[in-house]
Order: sequence, then C-alpha cells, then structure tokens
Amino acid sequence: MSFSFELIAEDKQARAGTIDLGHTKVETPIFMPVGTNASVKAILPCMLKAVGAQIVLSNTYHLYLRPGIETIEKLSGLHRFMGWKRGILTDSGGFQVFSLSDLRNINPEGVYFKSHIDGSNHFFSPEYVVELQYRWGSDIAMVLDECPPYTMDKSYVKKSLDITINWAKRSIRARREHTVNALFGIVQGGVFDDLRKEAAIAMKDLEFDGFAIGGLSVGEPTEDMYRVVPIVNEFLPKNKPRYAMGIGRPENIIELIGMGVDMFDCVMPTRNARNGTLFTRFGVVNIKRQQYRDDDRPIEEGCGCYTCRNFSRGYLRHLHKAKELSFYTLASIHNLYYYINLVKSARKAILNGRFRSFKDEFYALMKEGEADE
Ligand SMILES: [Zn+2]
Repeated sequence: MSFSFELIAEDKQARAGTIDLGHTKVETPIFMPVGTNASVKAILPCMLKAVGAQIVLSNTYHLYLRPGIETIEKLSGLHRFMGWKRGILTDSGGFQVFSLSDLRNINPEGVYFKSHIDGSNHFFSPEYVVELQYRWGSDIAMVLDECPPYTMDKSYVKKSLDITINWAKRSIRARREHTVNALFGIVQGGVFDDLRKEAAIAMKDLEFDGFAIGGLSVGEPTEDMYRVVPIVNEFLPKNKPRYAMGIGRPENIIELIGMGVDMFDCVMPTRNARNGTLFTRFGVVNIKRQQYRDDDRPIEEGCGCYTCRNFSRGYLRHLHKAKELSFYTLASIHNLYYYINLVKSARKAILNGRFRSFKDEFYALMKEGEADE
C-alpha cells in the first residue's frame, strides 16, 4: 500500500504536483481517460501510453455487474485483466446506480438496485463498495455517494448529503479492514453554496487521501459549477489532491485548474470522437462536413498524435462516412492526445508561473480559429 501527493508549485490558485501510487507516478494536473468496462472505447493500452495517459478510470458498478468480482479476482486483478500497468482509479458506482438503474431504493444502509443489463437485484453498501475496489486492486478507490439530480430541491439535497457524509465515515472504517491503496471522499451538495461548504467541512477532517467534487456537470449552468468549486476548495486541505468528477469541456478544465483542481476525467474526448467531433487548439472540427472532403491537412496543424502525423482530414472524413472501425480509433487517439496535452501544457505553465498567460493564449487561439460549432 503506497500513496502520496506532493505539491510542487502554485501559481495563484492553480497547482502542479505529483501523485505517487507506489508502482507508478501521476503528474498533476492530470486528465484521466475513461475506461468504464475496463477498456477505453476503441483504444488499446499501447495507444493510451502513446497519447501520454498516466492513469485511467474504470467503474465499479459496471465491473461488478459484468464480468463480476470473482472473474476479475481469478484473472489476477484489474491491472492484469485489462493489460494496463499504470494507474487505475475506480469510481464507486454511486453515480451509475442513480443514473442507469431502473429501480433503486436508497436508505441509510445503502442502495438496492436492479441491473440495467438483466434486471437482477443487487445491494451496495459503502463497506461493500470499498471491499470491491480493494479486491480488484484499484490504485485509487472512491467512496459510495449519492449524486442527486440537478433538478432536486434543497431539502432533498440536504437529506441526501447527510446520507453521503454518513457513508463517507463508514467507508473510512471499512478501509481499515480492506486496505485499499488510496481512498477519496466525495463532496456533494448540489448548487447550494451553504450545503457545499457544509460538505467540504465535514469531509476535510476524515482520513481520505484525496477529495473529489461530485455532482457537477449534471445539467447545471456553467456559472453554478464555477461558483461552487472555489467554495469547496477553500476548505479542502492543500496537501491532498482534488478531483472534479466528469468534467468536462476543455474550457471547463482550464477554468477549474485555475481554481485549484488537480484531476479530471470525462467521456467527452472519446464519445465525441466517435461522433466525428474533434477537438483542436483552434476549436472543434466536425469531420462529417463536406468542406473536409478534399482537405489534405491533418485534424490540427502541429499536433504530434499518430493520427495527425499520418492522415488527412479528407481520409478521416472518408473513414467516418464509410463507417470504418479504424475511424473510432484514429479519432479517439487525437481527442485523447488533445485533452492530455492540454492539461500537460497547463501544468508546464503553472511550473513556470505563467498560467494566466497560458489561459489567455488558450482563449485567443479558440477565438481566432475556424471552429465548426
Ligand atoms: Zn492529432
């Protein structure tokens, strides 16, 4: 068991650091590709290495239902199972229980839910979710929480927060039995400033190795996200990593780095890639468009990814139209490279004390670019 976080540099609120997971290191700020089913869609581990991924995300809810904990244990744990030696963070499954499962019944003990795959009945307690993540050898485990929908009123969010805080305390106790490598708490509280503050204060003194800010990017206006994150960060300890779950668009990530967030994950680069939406410094390229048919430029001039070094927009548009499977891979390689390197560049800027001008350049290029949306 080994986990430590070292804060190396600060530039106003923005931070650069290193997470040591024992067998591998992660430089923060970091973007983590999402591999829900122990696989980043259309991407092989060798490609993840090539785009510079240091840690990926997988998901307890999905892995528990399929293939199941016994299978992953028999196959020597999650790293071996998915052929990935670098870092793995596993989400607790709380979010999926509430977003995917048809029938669920939450009570202070835990949550009963029906599988979205075959309708079978299951129960997650905070203790069991820690045990699952311990058993498949996750590097960073997340606590079970309830992520209330954005539409819920304050009294519901308050009640839900009380349960989440109680579950966090139980998770810390469970951790003594199942010594997960690292365990992160999750700060909820919706878009209510006082509840966010209450949540951050309740969590900060618990023996977590890091803290996530959950319940963002669930349909709330961006202003709410930008208002709530600094409220939470004010109370979280400086010497532990902070992770904004499920964020987001490139500009959201840049803004949140500026507010002191260290870790990010989002399905956007891979999901949008499969739809033909490609991210560049100059804005988005929608490869489906007719205008790219005879375009022999790469997706992004100067991009060092495998796709941009070898293929034209015209070729990629052709693959997309022909529904060739290689399109998904080539487009995902570029988008992941873009996200990972955007965050890496932010880190470099923080280390050089020039995050502000980095941010200005980021917006200036977006503005002068030929974005499709
Ligand atoms: Zn590229």
